[in-house]
Amino acid sequence: MAKVYYDGDAVSGKLEGKTVAVLGYGSQGHAHAQNLRDSGVSVVVGLHEGSRSARVAREDGFEVLSVPQSVAKADLVMVLMPDTIQPSVYRESIAPNLKPGMALAFAHGFAVHYHQIEPPEDVDVFMVAPKSPGHIVRRLYTQGKGTPGLLAVYNDATGSAKDLGLSYASAIGCGRAGVIETTFEEETETDLFGEQAVLCGGVTELMKAGFETLVEAGYQPEIAYFECLNEMKLIVDLIYEGGLSWMRYSISDTAEYGDMVAGPRVIGSESRAAMKELLREVQDGSFAKDWILENQTGRPRMKAWRRREALQQLERVGADLRDMMPWLEAKKAPR
Ligand code: NDP
Ligand code: MG
Ligand code: MG
Repeated sequence: MAKVYYDGDAVSGKLEGKTVAVLGYGSQGHAHAQNLRDSGVSVVVGLHEGSRSARVAREDGFEVLSVPQSVAKADLVMVLMPDTIQPSVYRESIAPNLKPGMALAFAHGFAVHYHQIEPPEDVDVFMVAPKSPGHIVRRLYTQGKGTPGLLAVYNDATGSAKDLGLSYASAIGCGRAGVIETTFEEETETDLFGEQAVLCGGVTELMKAGFETLVEAGYQPEIAYFECLNEMKLIVDLIYEGGLSWMRYSISDTAEYGDMVAGPRVIGSESRAAMKELLREVQDGSFAKDWILENQTGRPRMKAWRRREALQQLERVGADLRDMMPWLEAKKAPR
């Protein structure tokens, strides 16, 4: 059983008298900064010249400084900028302002695990990764609840990196829900594998393949959308609440029998072999190298892919249907 920590396990006072620089005020940044402040921690927000979120952070009452200034003022630096930007900002603005005994923290291990950032030995390096998007990290905290989180120590320079990490996790609300101990390696590799094989890549291709199979066979796209996309949420909600058995208890016996005979045919040996290959590419660094190069060349493949994906019939049909369901509070991704 994994080691899980709660608020009571955190050594109190670890953040007392300390200043935390939260670098970035996006999804995670706004939630960490606000939760820390509400937990009584002194916070400055570090942002770049021309940042759109700087105005939001100021409106929310934070002192906003440049990245070098905020790092110079801080005892603990939490890096919440996009993962691909972190290495250059680290080199130019963070590293020159780090002092021995300070702490450098992350919410995802990518940059450190793949050696895009190599922190000095005299600072504590840890990760507190809430397992949900930032707006939920904030919402649950304000409701007196919390988001489960991961804690990993990469470098323990002071002898109390883990205690500091636990206090940080508590202050953003993760200690209310449970903090699981892990390593940078495990967090990074499982996170990348999960989003590729299951959560993002796997699920979207599964839905697209189902939708296209029905439409190509002459069924109405609207019906295909409901069957293969809209209902996914209802099924996943049941699994989230009570596991596969609760979902299967709730659906019809016919659906459950179909699950039994068809599932292993759709995700068969070919898909399982592809998953192993994806995991290998995550482990040996080839996915990381590919993603870093894609960024260095201005994301040509990703931009073309986004354009193609937005034009699909499934997206057009879905947008029309969602407009007819006002209770969904339909969202539109910016172009
Ligand atoms: P966002 O894209 O939502 O926010 C990024 C923030 O960084 C923005 O405020 C942006 O400012 C700012 N920023 C951009 N460039 C710079 C720069 N050069 N210097 C300083 N600030 C800059 O990021 P996320 O919150 O999604 O991700 C942050 C970290 O959290 C990542 O490591 C990610 O892997 C991790 N994480 C994210 C989760 C999520 O659900 N989103 C979940 C768990 C971990 P502006 O836009 O105003 O220019
Ligand atoms: Mg991820
Ligand atoms: Mg059905």
